[in-house]
Amino acid sequence: MYRRRVSAPLLGSPDIPEDGGHGMNPAARAQNTSNRARSATVASVAALAFALVSVPAALAESLHCAGTNVTVYGTARAEVQDACAGVLDAVRFLASLGLDTSEAAELRVVEALPAVQGGVAAYGCKVKSESRIYVLNLAECGKLPLAPGLLVDAATHRGLVAHEVAHHIAAANFRAPRPTVIAHEYIAYVTMLATMDKQARERILRQFPGDGFGSVREIGLTLYLMNPTWFGAQAYRHFMRPGNGATFVEQVLSGRALSTEDPPAN
Ligand SMILES: [Zn+2]
Repeated sequence: MYRRRVSAPLLGSPDIPEDGGHGMNPAARAQNTSNRARSATVASVAALAFALVSVPAALAESLHCAGTNVTVYGTARAEVQDACAGVLDAVRFLASLGLDTSEAAELRVVEALPAVQGGVAAYGCKVKSESRIYVLNLAECGKLPLAPGLLVDAATHRGLVAHEVAHHIAAANFRAPRPTVIAHEYIAYVTMLATMDKQARERILRQFPGDGFGSVREIGLTLYLMNPTWFGAQAYRHFMRPGNGATFVEQVLSGRALSTEDPPAN
């Protein structure tokens, strides 16, 4: 009853890491999952091209986010400072769950994401081979509502930064050899919502009501693809339930939970 059509841009999903695959529409992403080897080849070429590009002159401001190994590049001082706040939120939160947050990264706040495929809007992506994260700036994110009437404000934008950083840090902490998309998205959305200020979080939760996933059997790729932000809201509620939290995240990282994209119904 809670299945909804995708109406919001996808957030980063690192199983298609080097081609900006977060921008693909759900159908394209599902197809990509089954054609990973071919995509990997294409992605490697794309990643190499990116690797040869230095920081654009427009990204004149840079800031090493204190207490992290992340450096943010952007066009304005306030912009990079705000993004650093999102970086620090993610690092502190994931460290509190026991993750190693020392993985270095460069985060670029940009007007347009690089090489997004499929022409579908996305807020951010990652070029894995460069350890480089891209997030659209606030003005551009403001053109892409999370849901009808749910615009990306400054607090939500910091959450989007935290989401992308969480993907990056989680990737360095997985012990499962091939972590699933839902494992990644669970951690990224929990990080995003847990670190947002209360008012911004509740605005999103109100838009996506529910009791949260009742068990791991309910956490599946199909639901994520149908409505990523709804998935995120239910994941957050599941995480907050007593007994889940850091314990469940540890199970996800080890591959003992969320190791199948679409678990059997019973
Ligand atoms: Zn994501």
